[in-house]
Amino acid sequence: MTEIRTTVQFDFTGRRALVTGAGKGIGREIAAFLASCGAQVVAVSRSADDLAELARDHSCIPVVADLEEAGAARDAARSAGPIDLLVNNAGISILQPFLEVTPDAFDRTMAVNVRAALIVSQEVARGLIGRGVPGAIVNVSSQASTVGLPDHAAYCASKGALDQLTRVMATELGPHGIRVNAVNPTVTLTPMGRMAWGDPAKSGPMLARIPLGHFAQPLDIAQTVAYLLSDAAGMIHGTTLPVDGGFLAT
Ligand code: NAP
Repeated sequence: MTEIRTTVQFDFTGRRALVTGAGKGIGREIAAFLASCGAQVVAVSRSADDLAELARDHSCIPVVADLEEAGAARDAARSAGPIDLLVNNAGISILQPFLEVTPDAFDRTMAVNVRAALIVSQEVARGLIGRGVPGAIVNVSSQASTVGLPDHAAYCASKGALDQLTRVMATELGPHGIRVNAVNPTVTLTPMGRMAWGDPAKSGPMLARIPLGHFAQPLDIAQTVAYLLSDAAGMIHGTTLPVDGGFLAT
């Protein structure tokens, strides 16, 4: 079947967005897409070369930081200036069988996938509340928050935690006019997606569980994030939205 795709556009003119993990994959696509919709984008990531390319191609403002370190995460958020729209996208996945999960891998995963989102959101939310303006936050979670995937113990735990963090943030920040949601993608064809699912012996059974019959592209996630950040989603708050081709419906 020939797939016909339309790229949706939103108008974020005059809004300043912060995207973490913007150097590669989904985060890069989100940063580029928000910039194409008129947002001024502050792009936070670990590798300076990736950010230099993004700054050149999409006029993003680069902030190099390792969000695994709590102080660096806070400094990065503070250095970004006043932010209206936040996307907590940075994430890592360290594949280990459950019996071999190391404390170091578990702690690193939680530090990047959960704690950095907490810290960066605190700083952005404090700024929004201080300025008395509304805002929107999207946390990039995963379908792994609701199903147990082999070799993904730390990752699944971190994404379950991120979903819960999203709900608590929605509960506490909603009264300040700050909407908070999560998106929960299925396997997406990025460097991380290829690392975890590049082996056909793994990707075949996973694909068979997706009724639409294909993995996600980064643009699928970027457009969903943009929708949740936009005024079109003005009454959507505290959700964890699957972008999974129907994986969770089966
Ligand atoms: P990716 O291809 O590995 O890209 C991740 C980006 O985040 C990279 O630019 C990376 O920078 C940056 N990053 C990682 N750790 C960081 C840290 N400590 N500090 C600052 N930046 C950091 O991953 P992706 O597939 O685009 O995934 C993005 C998000 O989507 C993650 O939260 C992931 O869990 C989620 N997700 C992915 C999939 C999938 O199948 N791909 C499915 C569901 C959910 P460096 O390369 O310089 O380290």
